[in-house]
Formats: sequence, C-alpha cells, structure tokens
Amino acid sequence: MPIHKTEAIVLRKRDFRETSLIVDFFTRDFGKLSGLLKGIRTDQRKFASTLELFSHNDIIFYMGNTSSLHLVSQADIKDNFDPVRQNITKSGLSSFMMELLSAVMPQEDKNEEVFNLALTCLTELKRSVNPERVATIFKIKMLALSGFKPHFDSCLACGDKIIGQSKFSLSLGGLLCERCFQKDYAARSVFRGTVASILYIEKNDFANNLNLGMNPQIKRELDIILNAFLNFHLERELKSQNVLNKMANFAPVIVGTGLKPVPTDM
Ligand SMILES: [Zn+2]
Repeated sequence: MPIHKTEAIVLRKRDFRETSLIVDFFTRDFGKLSGLLKGIRTDQRKFASTLELFSHNDIIFYMGNTSSLHLVSQADIKDNFDPVRQNITKSGLSSFMMELLSAVMPQEDKNEEVFNLALTCLTELKRSVNPERVATIFKIKMLALSGFKPHFDSCLACGDKIIGQSKFSLSLGGLLCERCFQKDYAARSVFRGTVASILYIEKNDFANNLNLGMNPQIKRELDIILNAFLNFHLERELKSQNVLNKMANFAPVIVGTGLKPVPTDM
C-alpha cells in the first residue's frame, strides 16, 4: 500500500465502531478523501490533532487499493482556526463552506485551486469583520471552480451577450436574454448589479473581492439566487444553510446575548 503525506482540511467526521473515526478531508494533493483513524476515540493522544471540523492538518495515510476508505496513521494540526471557532457566526459560515465543498466536489479528484480557496477563506475569517462577505465570495468562486457553475456570462439559450433585461432560470442554470424569456416561464428577473457582482467575484482575485462594495438589495438577491440554484441542483438544502437561515431570523436574540450581529450590507 503506497503511503502519502498531504495537507488536509476536515469536511466532516463521524464515529466508526466503538473506538474509531471516519473523517472526510479535502486534501491539497488528492482532493476529497475519506480516512479511517483507528483508536482515536479511546486514546486521544494517539494523534496530535483532534481533527475538528474545518481544521487544517498534515496527514499521513495509506492509499487503499480496493476501498475508498484510507487508513490514516498520523494527523498533525497546522491551524485549528480558534478565532473562527469562538465566534458563532464565523463558525456557522465555516461549517456551511465545508458542507458546500463536500457536496459539489467529486471524491478523489485533485483541485488545488479549491484547496487554496478554502484555506484562504478560513484564514481570512479569523480576522474578518465581515464574515458574510467571505462566505459569499467562497460560494461564488466554489461554484465557478466546480461542475455546478451557473451561467452568468451570456444568454444560455442563444449565447448572445446580455444588454437589456435578463432573467435567471433555475432549471436551465443561468441567464436568459429578453428574446429567450419564453424558454423558461418560471425564470425570475434579476438586477444587472447582481449579475455584475457575481461576474466580478468570479473573475477577480480574493483580495480585490474583499473590497467590492455591494448594496443590501443586491446582496439579498445574490443570496436568494445562489441558494435557490444550489438547492435546485443538489436537490436538497444544505443542513448548515438551514442553520444559518435560522440564525439570521433570530438575529435580535444573538444581539441580546452580547454577540456581535452579522453585518447585512456588503
Ligand atoms: Zn437569448
């Protein structure tokens, strides 16, 4: 069995039998990968990392030939992202990012751009005063890098550049120009500013995206469209998105506990 060392971010973990854990990682060199950590639940010192959700680790594992579950022999923590973990909003957004990544990326398909995006966003969240913006950038870039990319560049029916009004078709997965509205009567109108913001974020680097101003109306529409797109194409709502929605609805309660409210403008 070949042995490998790689950087790995924890996407999900679950108990296995009495003593062990199965952890889904997104790794720099192998993409999404499932690892078995034997004995970690009975002997915490066996591994130098406790493999918390969204932590960044160095792992050593044996690549199984017949199974998609690989034996992890060593896990060392590189960054546990404690400042993210200690903030309920940042922690919720990071959980959402991990669930989204896990949902859209195929098993064992290397994608270093996706790995770097996840790491950059988690690192930025440590100090960010606008964590929602980081999560929005992640969502748009993640979709652009995966096979789920919604089509915003031009009309997906005729291919023409969109000049006038446009509508977003959930079932077709992109924009329709005025002449092609009849291709999907359920398509919804979309602000030009929303399309421009999505294209800007897709095409620019992370640092530039952080400085992008966005009015609250556009931010709201962007969230509605992207979430509806994800739900439609994944055929379910991500669990952590559901939690974030509930948190948003209970914002006054969160404020009442002394925790900082999430900024709603971008
Ligand atoms: Zn068209």
